[in-house]
Amino acid sequence: PYDVLVLGGGPAGAAAAIYAARKGIRTGLVAERFGGQVMDTVGIENFISVPYTEGPKLAASLEQHVKEYGVDIITGQRAAALTRDKMIELQMESGATLASKSVVLATGARWRELGVPGEAEYRTKGVAYCPHCDGPFFKGKHVAVIGGGNSGIEAAIDLAGIVKHVTVLEFADTLRADEVLVRKARSMANIDIITNAQTTEVLGDGAKVNGLQYTDRVSGESNKLELAGVFVQIGLVPNTEFLLDSGLEMNRMGEIEIDSRGATSMPGVFAAGDATTVPYKQIVISMGAGATAALGAFDHLIRSSVA
Ligand code: FAD
Repeated sequence: PYDVLVLGGGPAGAAAAIYAARKGIRTGLVAERFGGQVMDTVGIENFISVPYTEGPKLAASLEQHVKEYGVDIITGQRAAALTRDKMIELQMESGATLASKSVVLATGARWRELGVPGEAEYRTKGVAYCPHCDGPFFKGKHVAVIGGGNSGIEAAIDLAGIVKHVTVLEFADTLRADEVLVRKARSMANIDIITNAQTTEVLGDGAKVNGLQYTDRVSGESNKLELAGVFVQIGLVPNTEFLLDSGLEMNRMGEIEIDSRGATSMPGVFAAGDATTVPYKQIVISMGAGATAALGAFDHLIRSSVA
């Protein structure tokens, strides 16, 4: 068995594996795809100390760094369940079982997509999911935010300080965001809010986004907006479905509950990154959390009897 088994090969998993391996303990990393969401990212401008990099390049450096230690790396494998007896066991979809004295869960998350024509085609060409990441690319331009919940209205307020104009489109007849956020958004001159708006298509010129089409759910009319960017803010879904029967404590969104050392409700099981209740989902934050969880796991190992 492993001393520390890391599940996930994104920034959180890579950091956890490096921190664990540097303690000289037996470390494994299993992931469906090394790099995680970073592989889907083009420009990265907020990875501190690196003014500009690109997702696949950062993912390759992460993998190379992990490989410099004796970490057992297994990719192309999806976990199906987690159980705890004397050891913690991960059952994989392939039928294999991996056992470890401690586990760091770092399975990340995925953005909920609109599922309309043009969204996939123009992803990273005007269709964006992360205002902290991509907001500055739209300086001086008109953008839309789809979704009037807290993340949508926060995104609109954030973007309004950078871009020329923001139009928020909400499907329901009212905004679901907190009143204080709604008031703030309504007070800003360059934010428009349209409710009862069903986005039906992201439009583009073949190379980048130039507009979107939506239906007014009251009148049934179809309208077009001209803009350069569409921020989809309809939810971030943690990749934790396989933990539903594990007994691990999660919040109502499915995020794994952790404490300040990355410990979950199950002894020996730690978690880090976008799959957890951490409030902000970013690369540098996930890396720090991965390091924390690995150190938490090491602390747990030196205190536990299963040596
Ligand atoms: P992830 O990166 O999601 O990695 C999860 C890992 O777990 C992957 O290896 C995956 O294959 C694996 N996995 C998941 N489920 C299973 C399973 N059941 N079994 C086995 N393996 C599994 N952040 C920034 O700081 N700056 C940016 O510019 C930026 N731009 C972004 C652009 C886009 C398009 C997206 C989608 C995100 C962006 N982010 C950015 C956010 C950033 O990518 C995430 O916060 C970060 O990758 C989270 O790291 P993580 O390790 O927690 O999870």
